[in-house]
Amino acid sequence: MIKQFVPSEVCLKCKGCCRFREIDSVWAPCLMDEEIQDFLDKESLPPAFISMDKRIRPISNPLAQERPEEPGYTCAFFDIDKNMCKIYDERPFECRLYPFLLSMRNKKVLLTVDLNCPYAQEKLKTPEFKEYADYLTSYLNQPATIRLLTDNPHLLQAYEEVLDIAELKLPDEAQ
Ligand code: SF4
Repeated sequence: MIKQFVPSEVCLKCKGCCRFREIDSVWAPCLMDEEIQDFLDKESLPPAFISMDKRIRPISNPLAQERPEEPGYTCAFFDIDKNMCKIYDERPFECRLYPFLLSMRNKKVLLTVDLNCPYAQEKLKTPEFKEYADYLTSYLNQPATIRLLTDNPHLLQAYEEVLDIAELKLPDEAQ
């Protein structure tokens, strides 16, 4: 289980995550194959809500019509009234990593951080951030995690507006 960087009380007040401007947003959570199977087995996510590129397909944001600041879409698991994830304890691996992201650039696998996260921005230069980044780098470089990324290379994406934190070991299939 990955330790969480952003405290829950901060997340609950923030209006950034789990909302998307486009239905095919690169920020919609990408699922590992076993997560897809688990959702299907438990019938907690209908197949129609899983996109061809293995993401949770965003749904229309009911608040977007009345509030111009609200993006047009949210994650299917997002409770917009409570501003929280309905499956928080079982959220996907990518959501657990956030605001950190796995990026693929120039055939390198990088641990990056999303500069749109206000908490990450605020903490960027602190010892707390460095300590967490070191912890996460070491977690992601474990053989079991490398195997997981080798099995799910679609999790490695070309994100924009991210800051590089560390280079990770490369899953064989991604080379
Ligand atoms: S699964 Fe939960 S944490 Fe992940 S994007 Fe959807 S609502 Fe947010």
